[in-house]
Amino acid sequence: MDAGFAEIKKLEALLDFFSDDSEISAINKAAGYKAVKVSVETLDIIKKALMVSDDTNGAFDPAIGPLTKLWGFSGKGAAGIPQDGKIKNILPLINYKKIMINSSLSEVSLQKKGMEMDLGAIAKGYAADKVIEAIKAAGIQAALVSIAGDIKGFGIKPDGKPWRVGIQDPRADGIFAAIDLQDKAVSTSGDYQRYFIKDGRRYHHIMDPKTGYPASVAISVSVIADNGYAADSFSTGVFVLGPEKGIKLLESMGLSGIIVDAAKKIHLTKDLDGKITIEKPLFPPCKKIHQARKSCQNHL
Ligand code: ADP
Ligand code: MG
Repeated sequence: MDAGFAEIKKLEALLDFFSDDSEISAINKAAGYKAVKVSVETLDIIKKALMVSDDTNGAFDPAIGPLTKLWGFSGKGAAGIPQDGKIKNILPLINYKKIMINSSLSEVSLQKKGMEMDLGAIAKGYAADKVIEAIKAAGIQAALVSIAGDIKGFGIKPDGKPWRVGIQDPRADGIFAAIDLQDKAVSTSGDYQRYFIKDGRRYHHIMDPKTGYPASVAISVSVIADNGYAADSFSTGVFVLGPEKGIKLLESMGLSGIIVDAAKKIHLTKDLDGKITIEKPLFPPCKKIHQARKSCQNHL
């Protein structure tokens, strides 16, 4: 346990977007004028993030930082909807292709002033991978590691069964599905944990880098992969892409996924057919939304 928590602490110190002393913060402060030397771990996670950006055609984009700050979901609570002009102004900064890496020098630079890297959609999954490496090295033979919604299991439970993980119902208490995890990771990205509702619309913390507004085609995306970093980053990217493109992408990459679309329909990659338990149907869409907005809030 100590080895695992030490790993999380170390990574947090390197990668925390909001800390002034992290390596990510040093890279962000130097945006537009110089490259910054970073640790092996920081270089490694940035390389992985850029690969996922390519794979998702920029739906997952670690250069999302300026939007994260403008919307403010990660701080003390989002202030509200930013001015559209401000969003449009920063969109040219949200471009992972302008994150430059020099592997031999272990240096990273952001090409444009004002750019900011935010690894919030990959760091917890990556940390789960590293925790498992650390506790394995300390002699642990099986574990389920959960860093918020980013979960990785290795080995099997003492009763000989695989780890069983529930997936939260995006609009109610409890779970809607359960999956067995054996030497696999699962991450869920959803619009139901950090959000506010204004004029009948839900605004949340997963942004479409192309528009600068919260992505609205899905409400929950779970991805199952061998590695935590992949489950984490693809769940965010697929959340932005939505069910059609998302399922296609996951299947082409050999990943598994469960997508709940905006109409609460559940989409599965083919390999999951018959392999996951749908515990209960999701709420039907709320029809009389205008007459009964209050009681329908959790359906939005
Ligand atoms: P959570 O952090 O709630 O587990 P995610 O893994 O989906 O959920 O990460 C969401 C976080 O990632 C946001 O708070 C923000 O910091 C960042 N982010 C938001 N949109 C994107 C995006 N399109 N690509 C990459 N990172 C994003
Ligand atoms: Mg994620």
